[in-house]
Amino acid sequence: MKSHLGIVGGGQLGQMLTLAAKPLGFTVWVIDPTPESPAGQVADHQIVADVKDSKAIKELGKHCDFITFEVELADDKALRELEEEGVSVNPSPHTLGLIKDKFKQKEFLKHHGIPVADFLAVETIEDISAAADTFGYPFLLKARSDAYDGRGNALIKTKKDITMALEKLKNRRLYVEKFVPFVKELAIMVARNHLGEISPYQVVETVHKDNICHTVTAPAPIAPQVADEAKKFAVSIMKHLRGAGVFGIEMFLDAKNTLYVNEIAPRVHNAGHYTIEACITSQFEQHVRAVCGLPLGDPSMKVPAAVMINILGERDGKAEVRGLAKALGIHGVSVHIYGKKDTRPQRKMGHMTVIGPSVQEAAQKAKRAREALAI
Ligand code: AMP
Repeated sequence: MKSHLGIVGGGQLGQMLTLAAKPLGFTVWVIDPTPESPAGQVADHQIVADVKDSKAIKELGKHCDFITFEVELADDKALRELEEEGVSVNPSPHTLGLIKDKFKQKEFLKHHGIPVADFLAVETIEDISAAADTFGYPFLLKARSDAYDGRGNALIKTKKDITMALEKLKNRRLYVEKFVPFVKELAIMVARNHLGEISPYQVVETVHKDNICHTVTAPAPIAPQVADEAKKFAVSIMKHLRGAGVFGIEMFLDAKNTLYVNEIAPRVHNAGHYTIEACITSQFEQHVRAVCGLPLGDPSMKVPAAVMINILGERDGKAEVRGLAKALGIHGVSVHIYGKKDTRPQRKMGHMTVIGPSVQEAAQKAKRAREALAI
């Protein structure tokens, strides 16, 4: 059996992918610039190199039967060359190239009839002022690429904010997007295998603060018809994208119950961490199955509810877990610490998931557990 899996990127997503691949018998290789990266600590081999390093990606291809990635920053051109040489790369590097450019991604969604907030490519301050006349305030100025955890966004509330937003995002290709007055942010993980079979997970609610995901509630407390529509959009998007794997799709829901797709991630996602404890097949195992040509597993929840809370750093310094015993003393709590050596404010250091009979009960316990723990 072909059993060598390569992952471009060695952060927490790579770590949890590795932890899912090992029990299936895979030897796992990862590329990451940080020695003893979160994934490197649990994988068989780590190539210490940047995820954009085409030589390292080629090297990975020599050792592995299947290649995937955990970050959009991965070099899609090098991955495309590997694919042309006959290495199995999933999701398709073509899809990665499309999704990497958030403006192209929005055009793709619009072209396929998926609802998105109005958007426009801009280059100059005059373009931005013109967009303000069309969209009205507030609106967002967004970087087209290399933008994650909100690092590429600036909210423009009045004309005065334009200069500061341009300063924040200088030297980057930009577009503007109409502000959606959402009442909830939703997300859905969805898998497709090499045969084109598509399998969505539950729709979840995500809560972001300062552009960073803080909590995920599964299932999302929304009307069943909204959940059905979100699943329908997710499946439709997957039909138009190439390659196998698990994708994360983020959406906004407004007060009129209208959905807008915000973003597609061609990889496992923070919004799907709850699946480790709450679903028959976790997003990580599902991704390994999909990219390695294996049958997809059952994405159903095996518990009524789950709440995931990210453990974000709160200070600068060496990481040190405090309060673990107290957190684990609460029934139904699972803790995942990623093994990052240094902590800093807002850095994703770990997460915890609480499963329970209801969203309310899981949320209460998750809050208590989170308060008990610091890193
Ligand atoms: P993004 O980088 O596009 O994932 O955006 C990060 C966060 O910024 C989202 O989770 C929202 O909370 C907020 N955001 C992004 N785009 C919009 C929008 N068009 N309208 C309102 N809020 C937005």
